[in-house]
Amino acid sequence: MSPQEPPSDLQEIVEEIHAALAPSFGAGTVADYIPQLAHVDPKRFGLAVATLDGAVHAAGDAAEPFSIQSISKAFLLTLALGRLGESLWTHVGREPSGSAFNSIVQLEAEHGRPRNPFINAGAIVVTDLVLAGHSPREAIGEILRFVRFLADDDTIAIDAEVARSELATGDRNYALAHFMRSFGRLEHEVDKVLGVYFHHCAIAMSCRQMARAGLFLAGGGRSPITGHSVVSPARARRINAVMLTCGHYDASGDFAYRVGLPGKSGVGGGILAIAPGHASIAVWSPGLDANGNSLLGARALEMLARRTGWSVFGA
Ligand code: GLN
Repeated sequence: MSPQEPPSDLQEIVEEIHAALAPSFGAGTVADYIPQLAHVDPKRFGLAVATLDGAVHAAGDAAEPFSIQSISKAFLLTLALGRLGESLWTHVGREPSGSAFNSIVQLEAEHGRPRNPFINAGAIVVTDLVLAGHSPREAIGEILRFVRFLADDDTIAIDAEVARSELATGDRNYALAHFMRSFGRLEHEVDKVLGVYFHHCAIAMSCRQMARAGLFLAGGGRSPITGHSVVSPARARRINAVMLTCGHYDASGDFAYRVGLPGKSGVGGGILAIAPGHASIAVWSPGLDANGNSLLGARALEMLARRTGWSVFGA
């Protein structure tokens, strides 16, 4: 995909969005069901836009690492598709669930096969697949190395406190995993699968690092930073399609309507959004809306999409 000229005033746009939202910093509710996440300052806000020419335009706390939580599911899906190819889809669907990210409600009627890889149940199944042939420690290492490779940054690390905190309070995810295992959907023991799952959710990245890591999805599978072809152009399009339809759980339709770009959110308050052919965007604001998506993060992306004209639905 040939890079499109970014708007010449992109840095100004990013700074204006930061300034326009500043009076609202702290809006929304910080996730506290993972106790360690509740320690973050709710007024933090970072925005970084990485364009296909390799530049990064940023404002606010864009260099401060935060817990990526479910955004890891987008990187995990990429890794798993590389391993299994299209046969991945025999284990997990690719339909929006219309249910909360941690819902168990569809699993019984659908014989333990999760709707998509971005709800917790689906990501737990994908984690089980990535675990095949590895010890949990090796699998965690492989996922972390993959994210470091994507961002071309070996300083990216896992916040062990966050992983421990989620392990100690992860009853809901244990319930999902045991239920799926009862349907024969998980090959490995629940403890092992969730140990890996909690650790990839606990990867900490800054907006700058995340925007760079997502750039291959904007560049037709190739990262202009590393020059490496990460996935084929067709696979990049498909990952973007799943992000658009499922990346914000039961608010995916609303995000598509308002922002018009594929996006993946996490309860740490981050969102990774992709403007194919243009840019990879990371935003962080810890306060969440009722669906568990960053309240100001979505607002910032809405403003950015309007100002740049970036949309997957036409000009
Ligand atoms: N680790 C979190 C959980 O499993 C991820 C959820 C999220 O970011 N939506 O609950």
